[in-house]
Amino acid sequence: MEAPLIELRGVSRDYQAGDQPLTVLDQIDLVIKTGEMVAIVGTSGSGKSTLMNIIGCLDRPSRGTYRISGQPTGELVPDALAYLRREHFGFIFQRYHLLTSMTALANVEMPAIYAGMTAKNRQTRALTLLSRLGMAERLGHMPGQLSGGQQQRVSIARALMNGGAVILADEPTGALDTASGLEVMNILKELNRDGHTVIIVTHNLQVAQYADRIIEISDGRIVADRKTRDQSAAVPQRPATAPSPAHPWRAYWDRFAEAFRMALTAMASHRLRTLLTMLGIIIGIASVVSVVALGEGSRQRILKDISAMGTNTINVYPGKDWGDMRSGKVRTLIPRDADALAQQPYVDTVTPVVTKSVTLLYRNISVTAQVNGVGEHFFRVRGMELAEGRLFDLEAVRSNAQYVVIDQNTQRSLFKDFPDRVIGEVIMLDNVPCRVIGVTKKLDAAIGDTESLNVWTPYTTAMNRLIGQQYLRSITVRVAESVPTTVAEQSVVKLLTQRHGAKDIFVSNLDAIRQTIEKTTQTMTLLISSIALISLLVGGIGVMNIMLVSVTERTQEIGVRMAVGARQSDILQQFLIEAVLVCLLGGMLGVALALGLGVVVAFSGSDFKLIYSTASMVSAFLCSSCIGILFGFLPARKAARLDPVVALTRE
Ligand code: ADP
Ligand code: MG
Repeated sequence: MEAPLIELRGVSRDYQAGDQPLTVLDQIDLVIKTGEMVAIVGTSGSGKSTLMNIIGCLDRPSRGTYRISGQPTGELVPDALAYLRREHFGFIFQRYHLLTSMTALANVEMPAIYAGMTAKNRQTRALTLLSRLGMAERLGHMPGQLSGGQQQRVSIARALMNGGAVILADEPTGALDTASGLEVMNILKELNRDGHTVIIVTHNLQVAQYADRIIEISDGRIVADRKTRDQSAAVPQRPATAPSPAHPWRAYWDRFAEAFRMALTAMASHRLRTLLTMLGIIIGIASVVSVVALGEGSRQRILKDISAMGTNTINVYPGKDWGDMRSGKVRTLIPRDADALAQQPYVDTVTPVVTKSVTLLYRNISVTAQVNGVGEHFFRVRGMELAEGRLFDLEAVRSNAQYVVIDQNTQRSLFKDFPDRVIGEVIMLDNVPCRVIGVTKKLDAAIGDTESLNVWTPYTTAMNRLIGQQYLRSITVRVAESVPTTVAEQSVVKLLTQRHGAKDIFVSNLDAIRQTIEKTTQTMTLLISSIALISLLVGGIGVMNIMLVSVTERTQEIGVRMAVGARQSDILQQFLIEAVLVCLLGGMLGVALALGLGVVVAFSGSDFKLIYSTASMVSAFLCSSCIGILFGFLPARKAARLDPVVALTRE
């Protein structure tokens, strides 16, 4: 003999009420066969809903066994119970339990999404069901725009969506007026005629008359079980089953899309709250991105300055090191050393340097400036360019020519009354007359002294005519391409030590400065980024907090989804997606804020430029997604692990 559809043996349900357990169902034995229409009646509090929830696999018995088609349900895992709810049962509730943020059509389609029906089949079937229930004109209405009777019809369509072989209706007419109630009962009767097994709970005896069998319970025990009429159809036909499911990946994607849509809806319905939640993320991401951009901007600028001055130059100074008190007395560094260095294969060009502070005089204007006696290669070594005129050549150096190249600061000070005169004019350097042959462009440098006045003469002129000393202040060596600066540095020291008979010079190069600066920017970036990280962390905690609130607020929605067959993973996914979306959106706003900052900085006319790297933005997005997953997980798991009955009955 075929096993009965529903079979309860000695089923009890206890609740822990205060100290002692409260037995709500007491040793229920009940068999319901396929195709029956059963009414469970009893006074309020007699245990009808509890029994119904156990039959519908929303709740489990405390004792006793419950078999569906002979299969015991006691050992089933939550997802297996969800499968039964999804594929076998269709729930109809007294208060309809439609999701208020979704249209009638979307509400009806929902169980099919969890069952993995294709989108096309899903829509066709939902349309057919709603039309059959006279709701064809109301597909796009929200539950709030429908009357009670209409909402109950939508919920009947939802119960039928996946087939609904067993319809469980808990007080389906309880909230309806008499006429709508009768309509609903007629629909249920019709469904039973079509082959659906229908179990209704009611305290209304008139409603119960629709059933073929009435079971009366009182204080958790069955006190009467009678047939009102013989089953008309002895062999009930199988109810029309739902169309075949979609491809598993397709179905998975549909469930993901549903979760995504719900997350968006939830966010949209609390815009301000969502925005405030995101604030921590926004600030964190914006500061990381703009600090990185700022660091990169200043790094590139400094590098540009340094490479303009030449990273492959070495300066040779007399003395042991910076701050050597006796370096002024070291007179061994002479122009011949420069000539010797120029002969070396690793050297590109060499220029000797002597300096002195002098008074410049033109007509009646006098200013103090630094005169630099340099070689003809000096300007190339330093990457200096001319604004006008020309530079001096080797011939001028050999002949102690009284030529001077001035910078634009000097031009501005000395020729302020004669702006259009400069090239060819004779100015006095202390008492030595020199002809101005060129003006250099202002160096576009962020580092170094940019306000001082500098003029350049051949070093021979400076030594012989101006200063009267035969030793040099320094030698600047430009290292040949392809030769590592460090190697050249060692060779320079070795050569000069040999020539001088002792190591009385030291060298420095700009590469060391560059390294220092890079290290400094890195440290700064790291420091500010870690502060930003704290902001992200705080933001993440904010997201977690709000997600916990959201789970509490939507407990009933979760219950409804579970009742129609959502798996725990579906619920988990929905809330996780919401958390990730909040964080991602925060990340996007943060990046936008950082970009906006760049525009503001650019318009403010500041020298600084923010240089955004794609890497920092991509990692910003990755980072915010991770925060979403990390901090969304706990609330999402809390939602997924809710007990369906508890969730459903929570107000
Ligand atoms: P009915 O649907 O017949 O009105 P219920 O099955 O809903 O009755 O409830 C039966 C009894 O179980 C009631 O006395 C109710 O207070 C109790 N009960 C229901 N749910 C819980 C619960 N979660 N915790 C404690 N007691 C409960
Ligand atoms: Mg009840």
